[in-house]
Amino acid sequence: MTWDVIVIGAGAAGLMCAATAGARGRRVLVVDHANKAGKKILMSGGGRCNFTNMEIAASNYRSQNPHFCKSALSRYTQWDFIGLVGQHGIPYHEKELGQLFCDNKASDILSMLLAQCDTSGVELRLNTTVCEVSKTDAGFTLLANDHKLFCESLVVATGGLSIPTMGATGFGYELAQQFGLTLTSRVPSLVPFTLSGKWLEFAKGLAGVSLTASVTTAKIAFTNQLLFTHRGLSGPAVLQASNYWELGEPISIDLLPGASLKNQMAEWHAAGNKQTLKNCLSQMLPKRFVESWLDIAGSNKPVNQYTPKEIDALHQQLHCWQLTPSGTEGYRTAEVTRGGIDTDQISSKTFEAKNVKGLYFIGEVLDVTGWLGGYNFQWAWASGWCAGGVV
Ligand code: FAD
Repeated sequence: MTWDVIVIGAGAAGLMCAATAGARGRRVLVVDHANKAGKKILMSGGGRCNFTNMEIAASNYRSQNPHFCKSALSRYTQWDFIGLVGQHGIPYHEKELGQLFCDNKASDILSMLLAQCDTSGVELRLNTTVCEVSKTDAGFTLLANDHKLFCESLVVATGGLSIPTMGATGFGYELAQQFGLTLTSRVPSLVPFTLSGKWLEFAKGLAGVSLTASVTTAKIAFTNQLLFTHRGLSGPAVLQASNYWELGEPISIDLLPGASLKNQMAEWHAAGNKQTLKNCLSQMLPKRFVESWLDIAGSNKPVNQYTPKEIDALHQQLHCWQLTPSGTEGYRTAEVTRGGIDTDQISSKTFEAKNVKGLYFIGEVLDVTGWLGGYNFQWAWASGWCAGGVV
């Protein structure tokens, strides 16, 4: 059977593209090798799907070409998606920093996309593995589950490599290479850091403790929650920083951002405070953290007994903790893949490959990676909608 459009990948971008193309009267087939559509949508945002952000800008995305994402993000905005969510009567709320989450379940978003596809007459075939794609004069021939499928336009929406147990594969990258497109290097991102040596022991001892911290890489700083884990460091501040971190680079962490230990010590001193540093700091930071941190700092006496030199050293250690992560937890826990298909070879308006008529790439498979906070879904919706309007 011949289709106008075949979309490989029934995830966020693929379903948005299919529904949009179907609504234009195109005959659309979506194939996915998984037994369920939109698995990442279902597991996203802790089961509540952080489906977009109120503040979307190109600066919230990383790509070798930082301009590439601008056109799609301005043509299908967060307000368009919020409008769609509203039309479907899905209750949602802002959590923090403009992040919008479903009040109930992430499945509300998936059901909405599937309903849009259904209304537009889109056919969805799950458990369908595409193993070969070839170009013909009229379009493309796909070999899927030993059957041949034909289409005029082929949309690749196979996502990134994170969470292989959810169906992630490198198939989209392989297809891109088959058709002469190049890839940028790909690494797990929005991912916890792993530590080694004494800092691993420190983190292990504090596993489960979280505090507000400012994590600075060579390129950028993020202030948010930091969580100590059995393997190292996690939490939003760390995941955001991982998007800008290269293996081997040191990072610096301010464990009491917005305050100054030096000034605080001077205040305690002026007030005649004779409590130990542990007692005083425990009013500002989690007690378990203070105990472990002072063990490493090797110091705990009444706050009025510290010399200026000792105060300087403690200030430095608290506000400027220097360490080099040994790595990241990898694709097993990463939210996204940073890097992907080089956008130089893709039209930023239509998402068609410049060298292959009728071949489109959308979503995370491209070298466009958003921050934590709904930015990656907004990229999937925007790129899917733009391609869906032309395929
Ligand atoms: P995907 O949604 O990954 O869809 C790709 C589809 O292609 C999948 O259905 C897959 O089965 C299919 N596929 C892959 N290979 C093949 C193949 N060879 N043949 C057929 N089908 C194939 N982003 C946010 O903005 N907010 C969040 O709250 C959020 N939470 C997240 C939580 C977790 C745990 C994870 C892992 C990610 C989260 N993300 C979040 C990121 C977001 O899920 C992705 O960026 C987004 O899903 C990418 O959309 P996509 O359509 O490009 O790819």
